[in-house]
Amino acid sequence: MSLDIISHYSQFDYLPGTRFAYDARLDIINYVADELKNNAGRLALLHETSHALLGHFHFSTDIELFFMEVAAWHKTAELAPKFKVTLNKRYIKNCLNSYDQWLTERATCPYCQNFCLPQSAHHYRCFGCETEWDVTTDRDEVVSQTITKAPIAQRLGA
Ligand SMILES: [Zn+2]
Ligand SMILES: [Zn+2]
Repeated sequence: MSLDIISHYSQFDYLPGTRFAYDARLDIINYVADELKNNAGRLALLHETSHALLGHFHFSTDIELFFMEVAAWHKTAELAPKFKVTLNKRYIKNCLNSYDQWLTERATCPYCQNFCLPQSAHHYRCFGCETEWDVTTDRDEVVSQTITKAPIAQRLGA
């Protein structure tokens, strides 16, 4: 039997739930109890534990979230042998690709399709047309952009 992840990291609060997630706001690691029997579940648990170990915080920009995700996978890879967890390269790639897609959907200007950098945790401003928009913060939600300022051309024309 390999080392148990949950008892090894007794400094963290692990809570059984319906999905694997690290809630940085409450500092709780959620896991699906049934899935801990298989490697995929243990890999997911180790990944969420990596977020907690790296001290990943709740309020951050999308770009930071993406880099935190990459950092957490690096940490997961480093810890995996210790807990006899096998890395699934394709799974990791899919996770990062979906993150990348999520980020792109949020960061793309709804008017001119420029890829923009966030101004704050959930606010964007296009450097091209000066449109401003808010995005929702939850990674699990469908991306929605709410325009808070029309493009400069429309504002001048009004
Ligand atoms: Zn993650
Ligand atoms: Zn724009």
